[in-house]
Amino acid sequence: MNPKNRWKQLALTTQILFCGLVGFAQNSSGESSIHKVLQQRVDEVFDSLVKIRRDFHVYPELSGQEKRTSKKIEAYLLSLGFEVKTNVGGYGVVGILKGDKQGRQIAWRADIDAMPSDIPDVVDFKSKTEGVRHICGHDVHTTVGLGIANVLASQKENLKGTVYFIFQPSEENYQGAKAMIDDGLFDWMKPEEIYALHVTAFPAGFIAVRSQNPFSHTNHVKVSFKASNDNASRINFTKKIIGSFQNVEPDGPFWNLANLGDPQLGLSSPETIYKNYFTIPTDFVVKETENELLISTAVNSSNQKQLDSFLISLRKKLTESAYADDLISVTYSYEKATVMNDELLTQKTSKIIADIYGASKVIPLYGTVPGDIGDDFAYFQNTIPGVYFLLGGSDFERGVIADPHSPNFAVDEGCIKTGVQFFSSMIMERLNH
Ligand SMILES: [Zn+2]
Ligand SMILES: [Zn+2]
Repeated sequence: MNPKNRWKQLALTTQILFCGLVGFAQNSSGESSIHKVLQQRVDEVFDSLVKIRRDFHVYPELSGQEKRTSKKIEAYLLSLGFEVKTNVGGYGVVGILKGDKQGRQIAWRADIDAMPSDIPDVVDFKSKTEGVRHICGHDVHTTVGLGIANVLASQKENLKGTVYFIFQPSEENYQGAKAMIDDGLFDWMKPEEIYALHVTAFPAGFIAVRSQNPFSHTNHVKVSFKASNDNASRINFTKKIIGSFQNVEPDGPFWNLANLGDPQLGLSSPETIYKNYFTIPTDFVVKETENELLISTAVNSSNQKQLDSFLISLRKKLTESAYADDLISVTYSYEKATVMNDELLTQKTSKIIADIYGASKVIPLYGTVPGDIGDDFAYFQNTIPGVYFLLGGSDFERGVIADPHSPNFAVDEGCIKTGVQFFSSMIMERLNH
């Protein structure tokens, strides 16, 4: 079965499962009326949002070069009457929406940069920046952020508290979030919660979320020996030891990422194969100098504790080996922050959206996506508890598959409506209750 059908089947299975259990739980209290008003507003602005998204798509900008994009964002936020801060950690922009009533503070983050790609675009509104394309969907993220800003601004008189809209540059190189924080972002704003989304291959109309980490953890382990005239045996021994920690069959179904969307094996199944794994996703790199032998590789796990205990076990095995006298160090040379969703907020926000838009629309994930992928939203979450949602963006009937970074990446723009509706309602509920 190809990935396309797997994801489609997953969506249908989940829909049937949850419809059967819960039904479409439209909120019947007076609360639903405010969300009806929000939905009407989304309908009114939807066409203009699609135009904005296409404009970003036609003029994509690489990490660190988001000058035009940030100008457009600034102009839009100013047109809504927001206080706007620009040039935060590069081309970062922050729009501040103050509700008419006193209350708490929440932040919404959207990333705005595009990627290098020479592969021709699959849509009519093609990129006019040579070699650059929005194939990670950040044009959609930026647009959803602006859409939520617009919709919540229209309810300013009913809004308790403050919403900060953070438009972050340089996500693709994992630098923008840190740069905004280093530039003092959280010195002048103190949100109690922070949220973000990423478009994914789930079908448009759905969101998916996992408590804790939706993506795996990746570190790089580095083993250093004194150089000897028998480097080869040290290299073989170290590779063998590190390889022995991998707990996934080399030719098993784990490696076929089409299975991520499989209803039994995939992320949305409690029986998923994408949990409790430890893998060596890359080849070993060996460097030999006059004095030193360096052996390094990436290690990938669904669980940070496994990575911590791996390093301790590896060090122990090497210090107890025949090569112990020549061992200099066993360290992680690079650790990347991993998106880590706050458990309580994941539960609360999933329930809010399920209550208003239907339980079938929120796909709970039990597994974590393997491989060296992530989002530097993680650095915001190091400071502020928050949740990172996956926004379905595919339309399988039309062959539109929103698989980020894939050459044929495309988006069903209906997901902009879903994103703006669900998360405008969610922020409103989190602030007002
Ligand atoms: Zn990306
Ligand atoms: Zn991305």
